[in-house]
Amino acid sequence: MYEINLNKALKKLAIFVICMSILLFGTGVAVAYVFKVTFDNATEERMYEEIYNYRERIGEQINRKFQILNSMAALIGTSNMPEEKMFREAFESAAISNDFLILGYYGVDSDSMMFVSEEGNLENIRHNEIQPELLAVLEEAFQGRNVVSDAFLSTISEQIIFVFGAPVYHEGKIIGTLVASDTVDVFSEVFADKRVFYGGGDIHLLDSDGKFIIKGKEIVVKEQVYGILGAPYMSREKAGEIKDEMARGESINFSFKYDRQKYSGLLEPLGVNGWYLLCVNSIKNANQGIYNILYAGAAFYVLNTGLFLFTLCYGYNTMREINRKVQKFAYYDDLTGIYNMRHFMDLAEEDIKSQKEYAIVVLNVRQFKFINEFFRIEQADKLLQHIGRVLESSVQNGEYVCRENADYFYLFLRETDCELLKERFNNICNKISRVEDKCSNYRIVMRCGIATSNNGNNLKDVIIRAMFALEKTKEDYKKNIWFFDTELHEQEQKDNYIENHAREAIENGEFKLCLQPKVSLKDDSLTGAEALVRWVESDGNILYPEEFIDLFEKTGFCTELDMYMFERVCKQLRSWIDAGYKPVPISINQSKLTFYEDRYEEKLCLYLKKYNVPASLIILEILEGIAVENVEEMNLRFEKLKAIGFQISMDDFGTGYSSLNTLGKLKIDEVKLDRGFLREAMAEGGEKTRVIMEEVVHMSKKLSISTVVEGIETEEDERFVKQIGCDKGQGYLYSKAVSAEVFTNDILCVYPLNTDFSSGNKGV
Ligand code: C2E
Ligand code: MG
Ligand code: MG
Repeated sequence: MYEINLNKALKKLAIFVICMSILLFGTGVAVAYVFKVTFDNATEERMYEEIYNYRERIGEQINRKFQILNSMAALIGTSNMPEEKMFREAFESAAISNDFLILGYYGVDSDSMMFVSEEGNLENIRHNEIQPELLAVLEEAFQGRNVVSDAFLSTISEQIIFVFGAPVYHEGKIIGTLVASDTVDVFSEVFADKRVFYGGGDIHLLDSDGKFIIKGKEIVVKEQVYGILGAPYMSREKAGEIKDEMARGESINFSFKYDRQKYSGLLEPLGVNGWYLLCVNSIKNANQGIYNILYAGAAFYVLNTGLFLFTLCYGYNTMREINRKVQKFAYYDDLTGIYNMRHFMDLAEEDIKSQKEYAIVVLNVRQFKFINEFFRIEQADKLLQHIGRVLESSVQNGEYVCRENADYFYLFLRETDCELLKERFNNICNKISRVEDKCSNYRIVMRCGIATSNNGNNLKDVIIRAMFALEKTKEDYKKNIWFFDTELHEQEQKDNYIENHAREAIENGEFKLCLQPKVSLKDDSLTGAEALVRWVESDGNILYPEEFIDLFEKTGFCTELDMYMFERVCKQLRSWIDAGYKPVPISINQSKLTFYEDRYEEKLCLYLKKYNVPASLIILEILEGIAVENVEEMNLRFEKLKAIGFQISMDDFGTGYSSLNTLGKLKIDEVKLDRGFLREAMAEGGEKTRVIMEEVVHMSKKLSISTVVEGIETEEDERFVKQIGCDKGQGYLYSKAVSAEVFTNDILCVYPLNTDFSSGNKGV
């Protein structure tokens, strides 16, 4: 159960952690994404800015070239000088400003082009020898447009050059074309400034086919490539698309992967010859640090979460292990390995919520302490383990077994039928007795107490009741199984109450002395009284001797009570003497334990002395059962007591097994015939008993033993006992036992004038 709770708690925690991780991770990813988008947008904007800047600068460069060329063309066109001379002058001024590499002029009617070589010589080149790239420029310039060629290798200068071309007008008519070449270095200055993305990017000039006209500082793609419409910049398909877009003069954004790194590029038309500026942003390299921090953060986070989950799992396993050990310790019995009482209770409590009918069986090994002693503890432990195994194998689903301590085992069974429970108990006993070790020679006897759910309101009640039932098996060795009995238990509870409250009651003076008169059957005079105890509780409730005397005899409290009553009797006699009444002898019942008390006679004498009362006023009543146990020893005691002055009476004669023979052997002064005797004699068909009673009286007379008949309730009873010659009578006919005050006032004070007690005193 505890493990289930632990699992639940840990699962909740794990789910919480995972959810939090996902949430945090998601937030992290979102932040990173926003960051990336912002950064990409900023980069893109920056790229546009960069590329516009370059486009402007290159445009200015080209415009400046055309301005020079156009002003030279104007100079040539407006002059009346021969073209050749004018051209030379124009060249010289251009050479001074060092604007162009080679300058050429092609007149409309000419079949060759004159040009000034690098060495400054004026040379001619025939039309058919002119390079096609140059021819294309010438032809377009003749159309009246300023032209610039693509870069090409010049056969004249043997350098890669551009050719600029401008028409030469004279009086509104095109008379020729002025061409000027320049090396690609003309733009290199612009491209060489390494300012793109503060040096973190590439800028290139491309022709309309995507080929490099001028390659800027290469940062990204390291190997030699001639254009971007192919690897490593893009695939063929992509190249086709880009080419189409270039043909349309669109501004193009694209990205490519190089060396496992993604780059973005921007193609922006320059507005000249379908040329494009390519800007590649390698600034990511610069910002890689930021990305790296993000990646590292994410990795750290993932690692941390993983570590946490790992720790959680590890912790969980460790806790589960510890928990199992704790559970073993907390739930299981160390010795037998079966449940302990606590776990047993937990499980049973849980089960009875749904299933109300059950039985609790408590098992115990009879005389286990001897097993421990004879076979030593190790062997006894093995026996307990064996019992544990047997019990465990004897329970079914939904039934439990545990050891509480020592040799006490509990079973929680679904069975409530007494017969079936007995059968199960017998089976268990059979299995237990089949123990195969040193104890096997010893007959293992189990005793068991059973209570069912009907015997208690809750599990604890039922367990206690099963324990009560088990206790009962101690009383009878032949009966090893005992079912809890409610009535019996109520009696036991009462006994328990009596037992626990007796001492307190004696201290509070709740035990009251009552006296029942003994009457002479010769002259109906009062001959004595019997002291009978009554327990008057503080609430006025009266308990009679039969409710507690037997119990006190068992617990030993009887001795205390008898001594207390003896003192009360002495006190009473003293008060009579002091009051000037003629005291009558009082009979006091003495229990077996009291009679065998150490220094018994001595104690009695102390009271006699204390109250200065003669022993002759006291008759000690001893039960028939005690008197016949050991006649010789009894007589020794009787002699001692008689020497002090006490009289001895044998109480309840006829209830035990004494024969008339023993009556003769015992040195007693009086015999009290039990009221059962009289009841039997007076009952129908009681002739024989009447004969026996008569014989007892006769014989007693012969033995000089005075006779008292108890239980005279009617005139008829009295007639009979008088007829058989009995000496004294005691019974309700005369009076019930009454309080000492009532006895003194209503019975003793009227004696001997009025001995007719039949008016009936209200006794207690
Ligand atoms: P017991 O000594 O034989 O006392 C006589 C019992 O018979 C008394 O019962 C008395 O009330 C009762 N009894 C007397 N006359 C009649 C009658 O006509 N009809 C009926 N049905 N009963 C009658 P009680 O007082 O309940 O005492 C019962 C027994 O308890 C006594 O029997 C005696 O053995 C014992 N007992 C009483 N007081 C003491 C005591 O202080 N110490 C000891 N050890 N035992 C006592
Ligand atoms: Mg008596
Ligand atoms: Mg009696």
